[in-house]
Formats: sequence, structure tokens, C-alpha cells
Amino acid sequence: MSDLLDDAARRAKLYLAGIGTRAVAPAGAALDALCALDRPLPHASSAAGEVLAELDELGSPATMATAGGRFFGFVIGGSLPVTVAANWLAAAWDQNAGLVVTSPINAALEQVALRWVKELLGLPPDTAGGFVTSATAANYCGLTAARHALLERLGWDVESRGLFGAPPLTVVVSEEVHASVRKALSMVGLGRERVVRLPCDAQGQMRIADFPQIDDRTIVCVQAGNVNTGGFDPIAEICARARVRGAWVHVDGAFGLWAAAAPERAYLTRGVEQADSWATDAHKWLNVPYDSGLVLARDDRALRAAMSIDGAYLAQSEDRIPYQYTPDFSRRARGIEVWAALRQLGRAGIAALIERTCRHAQRFAEVLAREGYHVLNEVVLNQVLVSFGSPERTRRVMEHIQRDGTCWCGGTLWQGHTAMRISVSSWATTEADVELSLEAILRAAQSSR
Ligand SMILES: *Cc1c(COP(=O)(O)O)cnc(C)c1O
Repeated sequence: MSDLLDDAARRAKLYLAGIGTRAVAPAGAALDALCALDRPLPHASSAAGEVLAELDELGSPATMATAGGRFFGFVIGGSLPVTVAANWLAAAWDQNAGLVVTSPINAALEQVALRWVKELLGLPPDTAGGFVTSATAANYCGLTAARHALLERLGWDVESRGLFGAPPLTVVVSEEVHASVRKALSMVGLGRERVVRLPCDAQGQMRIADFPQIDDRTIVCVQAGNVNTGGFDPIAEICARARVRGAWVHVDGAFGLWAAAAPERAYLTRGVEQADSWATDAHKWLNVPYDSGLVLARDDRALRAAMSIDGAYLAQSEDRIPYQYTPDFSRRARGIEVWAALRQLGRAGIAALIERTCRHAQRFAEVLAREGYHVLNEVVLNQVLVSFGSPERTRRVMEHIQRDGTCWCGGTLWQGHTAMRISVSSWATTEADVELSLEAILRAAQSSR
């Protein structure tokens, strides 16, 4: 074991040492070489070191360099060094995080990390939380808690009886609702199309003027951080209305919720603490390894009821039992990396990470606008949308950038416009990375006229 771990560390260090000088996207030859993996299931065992060598030799070149500082696709962070190291140690521990008895250390770290996350995000201290795989899973869990609470008030035990014959609930979303919330609605049985869809402004934010009548059978899904623009729905106003009417507000804040941790961006999240449930990611802006998301719910009992096995939530012990807040029973101790990131960076370090990445995004927007390209969004956060003219030209520029390899940006469709999206979410991005990437983007734009 010892030699193998040394070998893994040596290979990982070599990989990371080269990340700044390689092309961000893997080379075609590296992808072609992956066919060597497609062999029959081995009959005989082989040496573990041989497996690791094969993984490194075929695998490392076929990775996307998201661990470096110049990947700006989707909304994807990197992994802070302390979280990679903590992840290795935790893997060696091999803890089953579901129960306190199977991992006392995980149970303790989850409690601390959860308390710190709530403090950072400005959420009520009694808020319950579960360490899940992703914001998609967190949206799913938050909506199951909503479903439980609203139907319980109407005298319907949804976990036992299911949704057939249940009193109908209304779901309000915006035109810009993230695909993962729609997926979660489909999984929860509320239906991805069976929703009231509200129009948005040019920044993708719900227009409060069009807000419908809601009641205590309504779940409103709001967004803290639009995946394209970084825009926020008017959460304070919506929560105020929901409070009076007894509706449930669920916040999809996969990355945007972390704006609350940075003093100069916190205004964006105003009123978010008035909601009932929240979904966020740790693997995006907090920069911990995949898979890591958090579901948070004001009503501890509703979340436990929704995630419970056979009504076991009724008998809550003194301890917070991790599996009572997540879909899985057995799982890895992903809270450890959340704890490590918060423990190392502290409040100031997290604020600096959020501010720095937002500043980088602003720099991208400033230079691209100055050079005459159309920045389609108001850059309030870490997301920039840029058009280079016609859809064809914008696509050509993106292809050029991706081939060039200095950086990587992906495309999106924004309110009918083909755009390139630049998301600065990684701790590793430096000012030099931004300048190098800008040069590459401008080069690509000029040669794709
Ligand atoms: C990324 C994202 C999600 C989905 O998160 P995953 O962790 O990829 O499942 C949901 N909502 C928003 C706004 C996002 O940006």
C-alpha cells in the first residue's frame, strides 16, 4: 500500500506540475489512445502498480485540464490543494459516512462544516443540511422536503401514500429555471412541464411584476445565480409574499449562494435567508473535489421525513445521523473536504476567492467590450457572456479557442443569441492566466472574421 500511494502521489504531482503548460483540452491522439482501455475483462490478477501506471499513461493525457487556471467552461471550479490532500487521507480512512457509528469523524466534521456554511451564507442557525452529490441532488432533496411539508399540512402523508390522489400542488419557476431543477421536479413527481413559468428580464431574473397569486399549496423555485448571467431572482420580495401566503420557497443557488460570503457581492443574495430550502454546490465555487453538494432546509423535520427510511425520522436521537438527510445510506465522507476548505481559507480566504474570480470576470468583460465585442450580460458575478457577431462567427471563434488550447470556453444560447460563456470559478486562476487567455480569445476573434 505504502509504495503504491507514493507512486500515486508522484504521478499526481507530475500531472499537476505540467498543467500550466499543456493545452487545456486533451489532444486528439490522447483520445484515440483510449481505445487501448477497451480490452476484455482480465481473467488473471495483475500488480496494482501496473494498473496505476496504465491509468496514468492513458488517463492523464485524456483529461480536461480543469485543475489548472484557464478552464472557463460551464461553471466548474478546481480543487483547492488542502481538499485534494484531505480527500486522499479520507480515502485511506475508507469511512462509511451514513451513520455516526460507522464514522464518528465524519459525523463530527459534517456538523462543524454545516454550521460554518450556514454562517458564511447567512442562513438561519437551525437550518438542517445534508451532504449530497451535487446541486441537482440538492434540488431534488429540497423539493422532496417541500413536497412533504405542504402535503402534510393538507393531511396527506406523501412518503407513505405517494402522489396518486394527493391534493395538487402548484410549482412556480421562471423561464430561466436551471435544467437540474426541471429534472428534480420530474424525479419528485411534480412534473417538469406541470409548472407556472414566469417571464424574466434581460439578465434572466424573474420579473416580480408578473408574479402570480400563490397560496399554501405553492412551491416557488427561485434562482440565486443564473448559470449564464450570474443574475439573481428578486428573492427578498418573493419570500415576503410566500411568508404571508404559506408558500414554500426553494432556492437553486448552485454557485451564486456563495456571493453571500463576499462582503462586496453579498447584496445580491439579499433576503435569501427567508427561503425554506436551498441547494448549493461545494464542487463549484468552494473548489472541493467532485461530487459535493449541499441541501439545506429550514425545517429539519421536513427534510428528515423526506429522506427517511420507513418513518424513522419520528425517532430522532440526540445525534444528527447523516443518512437521515440524504438519499443514500452508504456513501463517502464528502463533508471532510468542505470542512478542509473552510478550515483553511477561513471567512477572509473565501471572500477573497469569490471576489478575485469576480474581478477576473470583470476584466474579461472590460477588455472584450473595449475591443468591440458584445458582452450580453451585466457582469455582477463570475459569469461573462460574449457574442462575436453572427452565431456562425461566435461558434468559429469558440472552436478556434478550444483548438488553440491556451484556455477553454464553451457556448450557450442566451435569450436567442449564440454566445460564448466565460465562467471564472477556479481558485487557481491568476491575473496572468486571464491575460494569456484574453490574448488567445482576441487572436481567435481576429482570425475568424
Ligand atoms: C451547475 C448548476 C446546477 C447543477 O449542479 P450540479 O452540481 O452540476 O448537479 C444547478 N443550478 C445551477 C444554477 C447551476 O449552475
